[in-house]
Amino acid sequence: MEEKPTNGLREKAERRKRIERMKRGIVLTIICWMIISMILCVVLLCRVIILQNQVNHLKDVLAVTSGDESMVPGLSQAMPDTQQLLDESHSTGKIANASDNLAGEEDSHKVYLTFEDGPSSNTEEILDILAEHEVKATFFVVGKEDEESKALYQRMVAEGHTLAMHSYSHKYSTIYNSVEDFSEDLLKLQDYLYDVTGVRCKYYRFPGGSANQVSNVEMTEFISYLNQQGLVYYDWNVSSGDAASQAYTPEELVDNVTADVVKYKTSVVQLHDSDTKTTTVDALADMIEALQAEDVELLPITDDTTVIQYIDASSVQ
Ligand code: ZN
Repeated sequence: MEEKPTNGLREKAERRKRIERMKRGIVLTIICWMIISMILCVVLLCRVIILQNQVNHLKDVLAVTSGDESMVPGLSQAMPDTQQLLDESHSTGKIANASDNLAGEEDSHKVYLTFEDGPSSNTEEILDILAEHEVKATFFVVGKEDEESKALYQRMVAEGHTLAMHSYSHKYSTIYNSVEDFSEDLLKLQDYLYDVTGVRCKYYRFPGGSANQVSNVEMTEFISYLNQQGLVYYDWNVSSGDAASQAYTPEELVDNVTADVVKYKTSVVQLHDSDTKTTTVDALADMIEALQAEDVELLPITDDTTVIQYIDASSVQ
């Protein structure tokens, strides 16, 4: 009978201990869960950042190695049909909008072959073919510092082609990050080409064209910068298709160009002389001969060339 209250007290104490243990257990579980969640969040965030960087890098690699502007997301929609875009831009001055640039029966055709993304292992053969046919073209080049490339820049100039700029790095993520980054890249290329060739280049082609949708900055800001520098940019109104995702045969590249140039007084033809564009090399002689048979004038870009721009640079402050 005397043990009863003692038993009752012991039970109470044990229950309290049990409750304490359970409380501690619950709090510990919650803390562990929170720590694990936070670690998971940090790990996932790191993965996202790494993947984003890889995507950016792949975009740049794709654009540089294949010269395939249309493979960069946003660009294929950006330039569905450059002439259609030019039709829509109500531009003035030297800008070739559709009504100004459509050729009548009597009009002659001026055709400007423009090669971008080089120099590369294909450039020498392209220069040989141009020389054989006595045709001058325009090369929108990127920055390459090996001796072969230096010799190719010099040969372009020596043989009367127009040496023009297409950015030093051709890296969309760098160039289109800010006007400062754009300017740094452009001036690096301009100074480099001046050192190598003695020519201060004044024509520019935006990687992806001025209608690209990958730029983080309004394209008019870059155009404004070019205007301040006294540089003229060129898009194109005839695409050979050598950067399209479908692989055209050399014959098809020739047809793409000859079918379009007869429509316009001035045609700026987009071609690529990057490493992978061997079809362009295979098509070039036939393309030139087909154009010469159409009685068109093949010329390098000069200050007298009608400017082909999607965004009228003269309308940009
Ligand atoms: Zn390019």
